[in-house]
Amino acid sequence: MGVLRLVLGDQLSFGIAALADLDARHDVVLLAEVRDECTYVKHHKQKIVLVLSAMRHFAAALRQRGVRVDYIALDDKANTHSLRGEVARAVERHRPGCVVATEAGEWRLAEDMRHWHEALGLDVEIRDDTRFFVTRRAFFRWAGGRRGLRMEYFYRDMRRQTGLLMDGAEPVTGRWNFDAENRKRLPAGVAVPRAKRFAPDAVTRAVMQLVAREFGDHFGDLEGFAWPVTAAEAQEAADDFMVNRLPQFGDWQDAMKQGAWALFHALISTSLNLGLLDARALCEAAAAEYAAGRAGLAAVEGFIRQILGWREFIRGIYWLNMPDYAAKNALGARRALPWFYWSGETNMNCLRQTVQDTRAHAYAHHIQRLMITGNFALLAGIDPDAVDDWYMVVYADAYEWVEMPNTRGMALFADGGIVGSKPYAASGAYINRMSDYCKRCAYDVTDAVGERACPFNYLYWDFMARHRKTLGANSRLAMPMRSLDGMAAGKVDAMRGNAGRFLARMEKGEIV
Ligand code: FAD
Ligand code: SF4
Repeated sequence: MGVLRLVLGDQLSFGIAALADLDARHDVVLLAEVRDECTYVKHHKQKIVLVLSAMRHFAAALRQRGVRVDYIALDDKANTHSLRGEVARAVERHRPGCVVATEAGEWRLAEDMRHWHEALGLDVEIRDDTRFFVTRRAFFRWAGGRRGLRMEYFYRDMRRQTGLLMDGAEPVTGRWNFDAENRKRLPAGVAVPRAKRFAPDAVTRAVMQLVAREFGDHFGDLEGFAWPVTAAEAQEAADDFMVNRLPQFGDWQDAMKQGAWALFHALISTSLNLGLLDARALCEAAAAEYAAGRAGLAAVEGFIRQILGWREFIRGIYWLNMPDYAAKNALGARRALPWFYWSGETNMNCLRQTVQDTRAHAYAHHIQRLMITGNFALLAGIDPDAVDDWYMVVYADAYEWVEMPNTRGMALFADGGIVGSKPYAASGAYINRMSDYCKRCAYDVTDAVGERACPFNYLYWDFMARHRKTLGANSRLAMPMRSLDGMAAGKVDAMRGNAGRFLARMEKGEIV
């Protein structure tokens, strides 16, 4: 009796734990496209195309290696459209000795899988996902007994553990972190290299038709889909990044520019999260660029920190705090998500551009996510459930384990400081420093009280005043709180009046 080996849609790696001891003569690998996973939030059309096309390509690659694959397509007549249902049907068909799977990335599915053995009357072995640098258990051990968990200390331990950018026990050149050098404004005239994109092949085109038919009412443009859907394409895209954009990644990591949606970012999260790229190989490739003198340390360290530090830390925080994390709302934010998050219909140019990029590419880079859509939602007090839902829907790289701590924690401070030590609240001055959006905006970024005043300015001070009690003791907010206290009462009242009127108009659905 062989083994039924389950590969989930975001586990498309030949090295995935469930395939580790595959016996090609006796075992069957199951991949199932299920409607429940496409619709439990109404994912961006490009996200669904990406996952289904990558699954179909992965199944074909397994077959080429002589593996028996049982593939259930979304439009198969008998598809039960639930993962549990498809595993049960496959058990009936193949009568395996046991089922082997790799742990799911989402708490909801992981919980369900814990009970499969009872429902199936069969052993179900669930293995650790070894594609990450740290297992969940290892992260729990690291976190145990610490009072506050900070990414920086975790990251340093990971550097020591992996030896990446290390010189014995010390970081190369003696410095751990070049974050301060990663915040430069992009000067006019800097040419931004085009990122590698991939025209859809016949498999992807067929999936695009399926998605247009089945999920036509989901958010986002379908045309223009150009994400890597195979490991080979993903590697080509990563190689292109290492040569053409990594050397400048560090300098302009936080910059934003109208019309340049990708800038110097790697565009690898879609592939990494699906399993088409390997996190260790990417970090080693970047370190090799530094060793060869082709990229500077600030760029390479900045890149490795994102993957070895942030990505792993965020995943650990998710598993450590679920399921309670999903209900956190430390700042008591209750406002509904404004319609312009979907339509882009707003006079705030920074938000309009970010939503338009998101709709067109199912992508926005980190600073757009954090400092434009995230920052606005924080300042305006939008309900974290609605914001979470939005981020899960709109991005092609969205999976709950990475989306939720970034949204609830980093962007909204709804976790009360588990991910970050302070809210990433910023006024229009920050957006103006880091982008060219304000030059083409109906609002005046230098004004906080007048008719054309930038909403980010008065919402920022309204946020500080609103949370004076709850956040006043946070030492990292001491400076803005001092500035607030030093302001003339008339100015504070004027800004808070502006904020109240703006939010009321927004709630009425007026274009703001
Ligand atoms: P680059 O900027 O080139 O960075 C390289 C890689 O580092 C990324 O591909 C990613 O794997 C990793 N990385 C960087 N920052 C983070 C981070 N904060 N957390 C985890 N990994 C990180 N990332 C997702 O993969 N899925 C999400 O659903 C997601 N939701 C987010 C929601 C919010 C509110 C915020 C602020 C960030 C979110 N991120 C998410 C993190 C980050 O914005 C994206 O990983 C990044 O923009 C992907 O683009 P890139 O591949 O060009 O990344
Ligand atoms: Fe955004 Fe304000 Fe700048 Fe307009 S002026 S782009 S609203 S920060």
